[in-house]
This record gives sequence, C-alpha cells and structure tokens, in this order.
Amino acid sequence: MADLNLSFDEMWEKIMACDQTYDGLFYTAVKTTKIYCRPSCRSRKPKKINVEFYHDIEMVEKAGYRACKRCQPEVEQSPNTAIVKAVISFLINHYTQRLVLNDIAENVGISPFYLERLFKQETNETPRAYLERIRIDKAAHLLKNTQLSNLDICYGVGFHSPSNFYRAFRRVKNCSPSEFRNKEGSDENGMGGS
Ligand SMILES: [Zn+2]
Repeated sequence: MADLNLSFDEMWEKIMACDQTYDGLFYTAVKTTKIYCRPSCRSRKPKKINVEFYHDIEMVEKAGYRACKRCQPEVEQSPNTAIVKAVISFLINHYTQRLVLNDIAENVGISPFYLERLFKQETNETPRAYLERIRIDKAAHLLKNTQLSNLDICYGVGFHSPSNFYRAFRRVKNCSPSEFRNKEGSDENGMGGS
C-alpha cells in the first residue's frame, strides 16, 4: 500500500471538517473506543491524542479496531470504488505536478474517456475539479500553518498562475487566501504573509 502524501495534522483537519474527499483513503482509529471511521464520519470527534490513522482497512482491523456503525467504513459503495480510490491517491501524491487526464488514466490502466465518465459518476466531479480541491486544501493547510507567501503557496501546490489560484481558492473556500489566513492562521509570531 503506497503511502499517502498527507501529514497527521492534515488528516486531522480533514476529519474535523468531516471532509468526504478523502473517504476510503485513510481511516481514523480511536484508541479509547477501539472504533474506526471514515474521515467524513459525523459522530462526536475524538481527542487528537487518542487518534491514529491507517491507510489500509486490513491493517486497522488487524490492530483490533471495529468498524463504526454510523459511517460504516468497511462498506464499499460500489465495485468501481477501487479505481476511483486509485485515481484519488494518484492525485494526492502528484498534485504539485502538471497533470493531464492521460497521465492519470495511464497510471490506473484505463482509457481517459472511461476514467472521466467513471470518476464523474462516482464522485459527481471531474478529476480536474477534484485535483483542484486537493490543491486548495493543501494551500489552506499551508496558509494556516506556515508563513509562506500567497505566491509561493500558489506555485507550490501546483497552480501555474496566481489568477487561477485566487479564483479556485475563492470557489472552494468562499474567501481569498489572505482572508483565510487572517481568519484561520495561528498567530504564533504575528507575521502574516499577505
Ligand atoms: Zn464513524
């Protein structure tokens, strides 16, 4: 099982936001209850210190955790889930690169046409829109946790023009990167990057 390019804190942010984008890619296991969940589970949130993350459902079960009855992380939604999961893992691990549909299709071994249709059918989004959301999530994480400038973040997460970055950011987060940083950022040393 390939590692997913997400830090503990990033995964923690996803579960606090009940973000469905990452369902099936990792599991939240709670040491105190011995229950594991999807990232999007809406049950009461555990304490951060009691959480560990698994990328693999077999590993989490082997470690003695039981599936949450509410979010049912062990239930695959459809037979196509494995392909869609492979696509999303690929996007998360290659988001900094310039990606075209062909690269993704080649990686999972299906035709670009079939990939686009299948992905849309399973997620209601195109791979391109999904990738954009992953990039904006990464950007939001960096705005919140680092002092990097908006421009550094824009290029760092794989956008090739600031105007695209600002437009995409606003579409996903309903505010500008600077507004987001002011709202969410930690003010450890009070040096905003705006
Ligand atoms: Zn759950």
